[in-house]
Amino acid sequence: MTEPAATSVAEELRAIVGDRFVLERDAVLLAYQSDGLPGYHKRPSLAVFPGSRDETIEVVRLLATTGTSFVPRGAGTGLSGGALADDVVLLGLHRLKAVLDVDIARMRATVEPGVVNAALNKRLARHGVFYAPDPSSEAACTIGGNVAENAGGPHCLKYGVTLNHILAATVLLPDGEVMEIGDRDGGMAGYDLLGAFIGSEGCFGVALDITVRLTRRPAAVRTALADFAHVADATRATSAIIASGVVPAALEFMDNGTIRVVEESIFAAGYPIDAAAILLIEVDGSEESSDAEMEVVRSLCMESGARTVRVATNEAERMRLWQGRKKAFGAMGRLAPNLVVQDAVIPRTQLTDILAQIHAIGDSHGLTVCNVFHAGDGNLHPNISYDAGDPDQVERVHDAMSAIMQACITAGGSITGEHGVGLDKLPYMTKLFDEPTLAAMCDLRNAFDPDHRSNPGKVVPVHSCREWLAAPAARAPARRATDAR
Ligand SMILES: Cc1cc2nc3c(=O)[nH]c(=O)nc-3n(C[C@H](O)[C@H](O)[C@H](O)COP(=O)(O)OP(=O)(O)OC[C@H]3O[C@@H](n4cnc5c(N)ncnc54)[C@H](O)[C@@H]3O)c2cc1C
Repeated sequence: MTEPAATSVAEELRAIVGDRFVLERDAVLLAYQSDGLPGYHKRPSLAVFPGSRDETIEVVRLLATTGTSFVPRGAGTGLSGGALADDVVLLGLHRLKAVLDVDIARMRATVEPGVVNAALNKRLARHGVFYAPDPSSEAACTIGGNVAENAGGPHCLKYGVTLNHILAATVLLPDGEVMEIGDRDGGMAGYDLLGAFIGSEGCFGVALDITVRLTRRPAAVRTALADFAHVADATRATSAIIASGVVPAALEFMDNGTIRVVEESIFAAGYPIDAAAILLIEVDGSEESSDAEMEVVRSLCMESGARTVRVATNEAERMRLWQGRKKAFGAMGRLAPNLVVQDAVIPRTQLTDILAQIHAIGDSHGLTVCNVFHAGDGNLHPNISYDAGDPDQVERVHDAMSAIMQACITAGGSITGEHGVGLDKLPYMTKLFDEPTLAAMCDLRNAFDPDHRSNPGKVVPVHSCREWLAAPAARAPARRATDAR
């Protein structure tokens, strides 16, 4: 008697989502081997793209019964190597893009995870409300990815990061169970599972739907460009504005390297190319309060040494000022084939010193570092343009990044403000946290994903998960998607 043909996980996935939505060929999987951070390349064993909530649940349940690991992925704009699948299944969620409900009376909307951040705001515009967190990648990144990374953005200085704007979520746990966390009406009882899930970087399961808080659009917005001949004057102005009690909607910094590359690109915004630094400052509220706050901002900038403070006089001018900032990373693509966008946080009062250190690190490694960042909350983005085809440059970039991270830690800061740990920041976790703290993080992960099958090998170094390592027998053996059942 002949044995029945074994069915591979891939075949079973095809039966759930359809042939077109399971990719196995190396040439097609190439597109998914990186995210927004070059330098890391991991090939998934296959990629599966469910088209509905039910299909997603079926897929994850199948992966659970076969002990197969997977990596959730939204738009792949992440900047920490978080959405990379290393010979495990890549679970793409971008087809789940329905806005399920907009409830203006309750100021909330429920969306599927693949809804693009800017698309949600486009949909909300006619109601005079918006979803506040605005990563500069808003035109592409998904709300699911924003939740997983606890994304920030220029306007998070006043409005708060993703965590402050999520009311509830439906989570598909890696074992296939579906769990409701948070409270759509904003209530809170018991342990804060929603808070734990937000920022869990795909390691606690899949966000199946997300209920976001809506914010009414302010009546007035004023946006100014302050231009400085010295970096220290711009950072002093930053501290003076925050100390004054004015909370700008946004307070963004760009150094001369960034200004020049933006002005040479199609995103040119009219920035002064001889400035050592510029600040883009936005205040909002009523007409009266915005004018009054902008007056305070203007005088503090001038007192700190600004050469000029130019307030946009119309919406087109305002959008142009923002275009330069939001497209600055894209403009840096002109400098070299590859770009590392880094992310760290430092106490705001140390901005001048840390920027000097970053430039010195760049110089000593023969690299150019451009800085564009959220100055108001001390969230740095040092960016290094380089050629990944040159091994010597790659090594110098790696060493420089490591030195910058160490400088930020020494300054009392942290290794990420909004881009997450992913793969890229793993080596620094032990510099920032002691072993008991890392072990507690592992224990928290175990509560959601005891087999560590959802986004394996990210965020917490595996060697810190001692209890998990010590009990392999209790876990289902890890499977490859192409193994026969
Ligand atoms: C030009 C540029 C500018 C950027 N500016 C900002 C900025 O201002 N602020 C900021 O915070 N970030 C910024 N980013 C980084 C990035 O856009 C954000 O981290 C964003 O939240 C990632 O969303 P994504 O859909 O691309 O997620 P992906 O990159 O696909 O995934 C990111 C992480 O989320 C997990 N994930 C994705 N979807 C789900 C889901 N449904 N359930 C569970 N886990 C999931 C993945 O496993 C991965 O760990 C920028 C990136 C670029 C390229």
